[in-house]
Amino acid sequence: ATVSLHRIDATTWEIPASARPDMRVPARIIADGELLAEIRGDESLVQLQNVATLPGVVDAVIAMPDIHQGYGFPVGGVAAMDVEEGVVSPGGVGYDINCGVRLLALPLDADELGAERKERLMDELFARVPVGTGRGGGVPLRPGELEAVLREGPRVLVDKGIGRDDDVEHCESRGRIEGADPAAVSQRARERGHDQLGTVGSGNHFVELQRVERVVGEQAAATLGLREGQLTVLIHSGSRGLGHQVCTDYVRKMDAMLARYGIRLPDRQLSCAPIRSPEGRAYLAAMAAAANFAWANRHAIAARVREAIARVLGREVAAATQTVYDVAHNVAKFEAYAERRVLVHRKGATRAFPAGSPEIPERYRSCGQPVFIPGSMGTASWVLVGAPGSVERTFGTTCHGAGRRLSRTRARKQIHGRELERQLAARGIAVRAASARGLAEEAPFAYKEVDKVVEVVERAGIARRVVRLVPVGVIKG
Ligand code: 5GP
Ligand code: MN
Ligand code: MN
Repeated sequence: ATVSLHRIDATTWEIPASARPDMRVPARIIADGELLAEIRGDESLVQLQNVATLPGVVDAVIAMPDIHQGYGFPVGGVAAMDVEEGVVSPGGVGYDINCGVRLLALPLDADELGAERKERLMDELFARVPVGTGRGGGVPLRPGELEAVLREGPRVLVDKGIGRDDDVEHCESRGRIEGADPAAVSQRARERGHDQLGTVGSGNHFVELQRVERVVGEQAAATLGLREGQLTVLIHSGSRGLGHQVCTDYVRKMDAMLARYGIRLPDRQLSCAPIRSPEGRAYLAAMAAAANFAWANRHAIAARVREAIARVLGREVAAATQTVYDVAHNVAKFEAYAERRVLVHRKGATRAFPAGSPEIPERYRSCGQPVFIPGSMGTASWVLVGAPGSVERTFGTTCHGAGRRLSRTRARKQIHGRELERQLAARGIAVRAASARGLAEEAPFAYKEVDKVVEVVERAGIARRVVRLVPVGVIKG
């Protein structure tokens, strides 16, 4: 589609609200010339304009440089809705509610690990952390415990002896969104999730062993406890079948109510309901429950990672392995900007509050909220911290990844999973994958250049680069 864009500054373009009669607010894109050219290759900007038509949308809808086409809303999109007049849309959160990333820092350097222990650690991780679509093997739960997890998040697991208090303290929102109601989560959703706490899921999700290749922000790195050469583990997963079913259930429910609420949509996939309506409230209560489940899931995965570390590297190393932080990149949250209360939809986008925000754990408050940006299993990933521009320009938000450039089908046509595995191994990146096909879909060339994406968000003033991580080994769904 041809979309006419006005350049506002070095890293921002705008589609004015006048571009379409149904747009209520402009759409802004954070990018550079090259990334913008890639963004124009799919329908994501049309999807962004569709989002700008939703009732109660405030200021502007925003695209991050890693934007690409998604279900209704683009992945890499931000939309804030007025709490009184606005709507909530499950598609604006995504099917994987609270998909997110957690970073663990080991008290060990990559070059101290050695080739033999590295292979053993990869084997232990692959044996202990279930990967693959629909896979069970999660933490066994007694009756009532799943409901407690939905209400309270990972702190319930600490009471069961899984993980630690400081792991929970180092989660965005301390691993718990207010207002979660297990009763708003269908029986089917609970059935799908009950055996999946502590499991990774399908191909785009992973547990990756990494090395801090470069420190860019000395002071912030020291505050986060990161140094050059150090080993880290990046965990990417979400709310598994439970969150997926919550999204499915509420897309359907809201779809049936659109006419009743007088909502007209340019795309059925934007299905939504007023925030103040019974359907809107029920979705938000279910979404919070699924988000809490997702934090508990990454918490349980991290506990299994520590077990693997204990086995290969010893109990002391496992005990000294810290959760740096854990961020959500698929969620809607109530926040205030310029004294206006809004519901910020972040779909494939990460909260990035600047230094001084009370939402940040005290230890990190001087440097800004930690943000983790996975790139691909063959390139790099980044640790950033939030910067003041995010509050001024993007509802406290930055990017969430490199962003897909090729569809899964197209990636699969270009390489076989086993060939990719050989290529990565030749570069010193050990692979353990549930499916060769899934692996090919995640080939590094299927993603945009992560170094460029993070450079753009830094230039835009919404986040700052802290350290660059390179993969040493990856466990893939
Ligand atoms: P999403 O949440 O949109 O599925 O993925 C977020 C980002 O993760 C993608 O945009 C991509 O850049 C990155 N990614 C996908 N697979 C891998 C992987 O195996 N390792 C790393 N480090 N990043 C990945
Ligand atoms: Mn994700
Ligand atoms: Mn996900």
